[in-house]
Amino acid sequence: MLNRWSDNDAAKYVAKYAGICPESVALRVYTSRLIGAETALVMHGGGNTSVKDTVTTLTGERMEAIFVKGSGWDLDSIEPEGLPGLDLAYLRKLRALNALSDEAMVNELRTHLFNASAPTPSVETLLHAFLPHKFIDHSHAEAVLAITNRENGEALARVAFGSRVAIVPYIMPGFALAKAVADIHDKAVSEGRNLEGLVLMKHGLFTFGPDARTSYDRHISLVSMAEDFMLSRTKVCGRHISQRVTDEPTRIARAAAIAPLIRSAIASVGGDGRTVMSSSADRRMIVEYRTGGDEIAFADSGDAGRKAALAGPMTPDHVIRTKPYPLWLELSDWSGEAETAAEIQAAIEKYAADYDEYFETYGPGRGKSGLKKLDPMPRVIFVPGCGMFAAGATRKDAAIAADLASQTVRMKTASLCLGDYEGLPAADLFDMEYWSLEQAKLGKAKPRPLAGKIALVAGGGGPIGTGAARALAADGAVVVVADISEKAREIAAREVGGAVGLHMDVTDEASVGAALDETCRRFGGIDIVVINAGVAHVQPIPGMDMAAFRRVAEVNLFGAMNVFKAASALMIRQRLGGDIVLISSKNVTAPGADFGAYSATKAAAHQLMRVAAMELAGHDIRVNSVLPDAIFGEGENVSGLWKEVGPSRAKSRGMDEKDLPEFYRNRNLLHSPVTGDDVGRAVAFFCRRECPVTGAGLPVDGGVAAAFPR
Ligand SMILES: [Zn+2]
Repeated sequence: MLNRWSDNDAAKYVAKYAGICPESVALRVYTSRLIGAETALVMHGGGNTSVKDTVTTLTGERMEAIFVKGSGWDLDSIEPEGLPGLDLAYLRKLRALNALSDEAMVNELRTHLFNASAPTPSVETLLHAFLPHKFIDHSHAEAVLAITNRENGEALARVAFGSRVAIVPYIMPGFALAKAVADIHDKAVSEGRNLEGLVLMKHGLFTFGPDARTSYDRHISLVSMAEDFMLSRTKVCGRHISQRVTDEPTRIARAAAIAPLIRSAIASVGGDGRTVMSSSADRRMIVEYRTGGDEIAFADSGDAGRKAALAGPMTPDHVIRTKPYPLWLELSDWSGEAETAAEIQAAIEKYAADYDEYFETYGPGRGKSGLKKLDPMPRVIFVPGCGMFAAGATRKDAAIAADLASQTVRMKTASLCLGDYEGLPAADLFDMEYWSLEQAKLGKAKPRPLAGKIALVAGGGGPIGTGAARALAADGAVVVVADISEKAREIAAREVGGAVGLHMDVTDEASVGAALDETCRRFGGIDIVVINAGVAHVQPIPGMDMAAFRRVAEVNLFGAMNVFKAASALMIRQRLGGDIVLISSKNVTAPGADFGAYSATKAAAHQLMRVAAMELAGHDIRVNSVLPDAIFGEGENVSGLWKEVGPSRAKSRGMDEKDLPEFYRNRNLLHSPVTGDDVGRAVAFFCRRECPVTGAGLPVDGGVAAAFPR
């Protein structure tokens, strides 16, 4: 592993934080980030670091302090405020206690902070406090875990690291581990050993030193030693993970077909195997597909991979993100139809039933009462012949589970050469999963109304598409902006934080299908589709350019049909209901002269919306429409339609083009401008399902009396 220390960079950190925090903390920030930057060491909040120094209180008293990583911070982006300071002399006294409950420990930590509003210090704070060294670095280094996670791991670790480290048997993090580590450390030192660190079996690596550089150097040096050890064994073991993996086009196609079925089974299977529809689909998750070289090689490795996969996570704090075990899902049918769905459903029902049994055995079965059972759904799924899927309540949670699972795959693949992989026993995994201090890391934010749902806005560029995307994202949906124009989807994706842009030409069935497939691979399915693509052509009927008329029909009618068709077929297969919202037009109820191409094709699409509502209601798919009028957009995000029709509309009314928005504003009853965001909020209203509505049209036009229905 590369040692990334640079005197120059270290000096920059010291200069940057001068006057903000002690120099030692500035250097602590620097080397914490060096460790955080290495994904083979830590990821997503894993690992922790500390430094000891003194602080001067308001009354001039100098006190010993420890600055340790606070929860909620990642090492790769930590700042001084992510290293809360605590009263070190007091914390050391706690070592004399025989036991300390988790709740009492957190209370002791919080009440001995120097800053009352600091984040809660790491659950491993006392471990850092009980060791005498000034700088301490802790990671979940892959190479170290590859050595420790096996039956003979302790003996192997002694061979690999020699006398530089002391070995600590697995103990769950918390007060007991802190005491055990301090005792083992002190005993080794009393025997005259010159320790550089500690290897915690099936957990990770600690190193320490009198200054930031020494502790960091030792960390990288020990990890490199582990890597070399692994490499030397790999050369001779001859035991390789799969030689033949499924080819990429095949697995990519399979992923699009099965992702919605996996996601649907996760959302609909109860512990009792009951299947439900979208009204109670509050458990739907985001499902991310990965098929890099590592993931597919592992999934295609047959029995060796399966055994390693089911042997538990690489380090205990992954459990809250990945669940104790992944699902190994063997499929014999790849059609994506009923047979595939049945296989997936059965596998996930079995997983849930096994999880229930695990809970009963290690929770109530061991006299642990008052625990609230977590959902029994897998977070990581290996599918031989396809790759890996990861699930999470949000897009971020799914990505975190995927990252940790990918890291675990790398580590387990490498470690197979040392013999069978052995993770922690189920009882230890259970204790970690149900440890209140781990659960606290996940937070308890109230989910937004569309959380867990995936929305695709077809024709998502322009002010209405952006408005719809923004409103759906604000309600918690994961949003895909699909548009034929790269620039338009870039603007939309930029204006809607976190939205993903995809290419889609609504007039091309294959292009529509490809965008839907890609959405399924990235997020697991589609719950909401907004059909917004539209173009206009201004010409009176007697002189109509028929090619232009066809072009308008191609987008406004055939394009809408393509999306209706593909989206509804996917939603039916997905069995989670759905919402389709057509962006219709005020011209449907109040057409304009010279606007035949637009008005007629929009009216036809509107009628399709009604028919779709009738056909799809039985699948719990609601189909509605919004009828906007005169959405101009602003800045870079102007309406493409108005760019085209604006000049002629202005001319026919004998006015300047720039006065058009004002003209349309004054034309409506409320004298209100109508924006893309107004239309977007109407779209979100339908998708939130606050009332039982389908086949409906909601005018968002400031009130146009001529468009009242008759
Ligand atoms: Zn740890």
